[in-house]
Amino acid sequence: MTVTILTLFPDLFAGYLGSSILARAIARGQVAVKAVDIRAFATDKHHVCDDAAYGGGPGMVMKPEPIAAAIEVACVPGQKVVYLTPAGRRFTQGVAEELAREQGFTLLCGRYEGIDQRVIDAFVTDELSIGDYVLSGGEVAAMAVIDAVVRLVPGVITGESLEEESFAQGLLEYPHYTRPEDFRGRRVPDILLSGHHEKIRRWRLQKSIEKTMKNRPELLDSPALPEEVRELAAEIVREGDGHGRDEGA
Ligand code: SAM
Repeated sequence: MTVTILTLFPDLFAGYLGSSILARAIARGQVAVKAVDIRAFATDKHHVCDDAAYGGGPGMVMKPEPIAAAIEVACVPGQKVVYLTPAGRRFTQGVAEELAREQGFTLLCGRYEGIDQRVIDAFVTDELSIGDYVLSGGEVAAMAVIDAVVRLVPGVITGESLEEESFAQGLLEYPHYTRPEDFRGRRVPDILLSGHHEKIRRWRLQKSIEKTMKNRPELLDSPALPEEVRELAAEIVREGDGHGRDEGA
């Protein structure tokens, strides 16, 4: 997979891409990421990339010509060009899975008030938001998208750990524990020490449902949830609270 980032701040990416899972995926050739400096495509003496907004109002707008030139030179024809914007479709695990199936794509990072609409109309295939808040630029959003997508590329992370993660099964993930067994008087739940795989699986599912009920209850409305999840959720509700049931713990 090849990811092209178009940005006014290409240097921001080196540290993140140079560490941990992403660095390994790049070193193994599973993914190539290139950060392209939009400013290099501005043809005037001072490489100006922003200008005042037509119609007035505060803030500057990124000019269309350098972005268009960067896309035409640096991007692979036919691949998606994704503009990161708070006004975009919400970026979710499902969207990450869609992008992970692509051969490559481009992430366009805005700054200031955003980019000239005509670039969006001419080149952008998708507009994605990483959440309902406004960042100063698209670079952090691009890193979030790259991280979430690259870990789904086959071979980057083992299949087992991906299937158990939050959202993979439509629920938030259950809590994790590691050594020591007793941390400042807080013990690891006994069931996790029991070696009883089926009971551990059911306990984890219960904890996933309880966490989802508490933090993201709307996820439990999905018609795609398996029957076992629905039944256990109904049981938890019947028992009166979503937080106190500690079967075997
Ligand atoms: N005027 C824009 C608005 O109200 O929608 C916000 C512009 S923001 C200050 C500058 C750039 O940051 C945007 O062009 C976009 O690339 C990026 N950005 C900000 N928030 C974002 C978010 N939640 N998701 C993705 N990109 C975001």
